[in-house]
Amino acid sequence: MKTITSSQVPYSQTVKLFIASLFWFIYLFFIPYIYSSANILPFFLIVFPGGYLFCLLALFMHECWHEYLPGIHNKFFYSVLSWMIFLDHQIFDIVHPSHHSQVNTYQDIEFYPLGEIKKRSLRVIYNFCEVFLGNIFLVLVVNFKILHEPKLKKQYSFKKLGVSLLMRAIFWGGIGYSSHLLLKVNLLQIVIPYALTCWMGSLMIHHSELIEHGNLIVEGKLEERNLKNRNLKPHGVLEKCFLFLTNNHSLEHSLHHSKSNTYTRPFPQKNPMSEQTVYISFAEYSIILKDMLTGKCSKI
Ligand SMILES: [Zn+2]
Ligand SMILES: [Zn+2]
Repeated sequence: MKTITSSQVPYSQTVKLFIASLFWFIYLFFIPYIYSSANILPFFLIVFPGGYLFCLLALFMHECWHEYLPGIHNKFFYSVLSWMIFLDHQIFDIVHPSHHSQVNTYQDIEFYPLGEIKKRSLRVIYNFCEVFLGNIFLVLVVNFKILHEPKLKKQYSFKKLGVSLLMRAIFWGGIGYSSHLLLKVNLLQIVIPYALTCWMGSLMIHHSELIEHGNLIVEGKLEERNLKNRNLKPHGVLEKCFLFLTNNHSLEHSLHHSKSNTYTRPFPQKNPMSEQTVYISFAEYSIILKDMLTGKCSKI
């Protein structure tokens, strides 16, 4: 099997980004109205298409950060997509390089913003928040870390924070207000489904990340640490369902680390994987979660 290169990335990925963005607008416009009908349906819709679209836009944001997408100004779309999923665009920009260079160590500030938490009880509380709040919790802790570490604070700009707050207010406020005017929904009927969708999306993304790197500390060079990244086995019904909902985030994540210059996600199961690639099932993932929630730490 030959590695598929970035130059072969089809424009269909860029088209998919625009279609996903359009559906995101439509979803956010109608979900308050559907939620106000007060039956069980909105809760399914918050997982799909809500969480699904949130995950897809987060993936495209990450892919624009890597400048993978053909035919568009990736850095510009990276910022726009950040605002569309309610993020301050500078945060991921500051911490994602360390996820690649320091993967599976406590120096990875995207994954371990507080480094090693030595006290077991604090580790349990921290892991509990991470498992049940997902990326919302991580983003808050990463913000705290950036503002309290002089080296990182130098890269942080309050002007950029102002821009991101304004853009998020325009995007989310604009759609919510249009929904209020045209569909006669009230503030709570807007805010609750929006918050539930962000929580669901942030949970789905973070569990993909925990499958890939959760509770995994590896000693060794980058190549050795990259080899230990985990991928989700696409076998059982639950695994297939989760991979569909998260747009294959954890299907071949180890490839993203070992060949980060190449955009491999549009070609699932087409690129050669190392013989030592680690695959896990949901049953194995549940053991990792149990270890996290009881404060056990696994060093390799
Ligand atoms: Zn990356
Ligand atoms: Zn990763």
